[in-house]
Amino acid sequence: MKKDRLPAAPRRSVSAQTAIRDGTSDVIPFPIYVVDTVTLELVSLNEAMRRKTGALPGQTCHQAIYDQDSPCIFCKIAELSMASDPGSAGTVFEHFNDRDECWYQLNETLVDWFDGRRVKHSIAVNIGALKDAQNELSEAYALLALKSVELEKASITDALTGLFNRRRLDDAFAHELDRAQRYGLPVSIIITDVDHFKSVNDTYGHHVGDLVLQLIAERLRHGVRAVDTVGRWGGEEFLVICPDTDQEGARALAEKLRASIGQTDFPTLGSATSSFGIAQYRDGESFKDVVARADTALYRAKIGGRNRVEG
Ligand code: GH3
Ligand code: MG
Ligand code: MG
Repeated sequence: MKKDRLPAAPRRSVSAQTAIRDGTSDVIPFPIYVVDTVTLELVSLNEAMRRKTGALPGQTCHQAIYDQDSPCIFCKIAELSMASDPGSAGTVFEHFNDRDECWYQLNETLVDWFDGRRVKHSIAVNIGALKDAQNELSEAYALLALKSVELEKASITDALTGLFNRRRLDDAFAHELDRAQRYGLPVSIIITDVDHFKSVNDTYGHHVGDLVLQLIAERLRHGVRAVDTVGRWGGEEFLVICPDTDQEGARALAEKLRASIGQTDFPTLGSATSSFGIAQYRDGESFKDVVARADTALYRAKIGGRNRVEG
């Protein structure tokens, strides 16, 4: 059961009382009823209310409308009675009726009835169609929000390995550089390129090659600290951004990653190795500059025999 408070209802005029008492309100297609605020008995009800509930004057409202032996927990009479002017206090709220499983907007006002009794005058408008439309709309919004998160994630993720892609690495480096400069900390990068990878594809097929890349990505992801950023730089090349890390720290990490890849038992292939190039950021450099230096170091690792770290 859900109740939402809406702005206070407008004052119910004397003509509204007359309308329900003299039967004029019978032409109104939604239920209107009047309840004694003390006995909770139905004092008057229009034709739509009679048809809808089969209720009769004299029955208690909770029994006639909700089939309950005791007053409803959401009953507004006590709350309205506490208003500074209870003789015309009103409220509008939405309510789900468990009995007929319909949503209603209830517009309720306390008024002084003809005979001097204080009564609650209620108008119940079925808002089921509105609720359905609201639900569909909020479901559509939720789906849209989910899609946009998925899209955002896809736009920074490499589909094969699940690592960050080059675009995200660019952003991560800019962020880390900003932080490093603010706090006077070093930042380094590691580039690695799988050795003789072309022959893996040529010998075992592209599918096995893909699997090797996925396993290497996993080794890298698990081999770095949480603050490091690992991404696929392209093809069989990966890049790690290491904040708060100098050249020697990067070398130690690269050695650890190299060993981890070297110890991996790759399905079908058996073993594989990777070469590493490292570079610590120098003042005034762009990301491109520092990547170029790490690349040069990687090249040295390749010509130096592969499966090694240079930089
Ligand atoms: P080196 O030791 O000098 O790095 O030799 P290499 O064979 O690894 O270098 P090369 O650049 O000649 O080959 C890289 C290969 O990586 C060629 C390309 O087909 C393969 N490759 C790039 N991206 C993918 C991919 O997503 N999946 C697979 N299976 N292979 C890829
Ligand atoms: Mg390559
Ligand atoms: Mg290679």
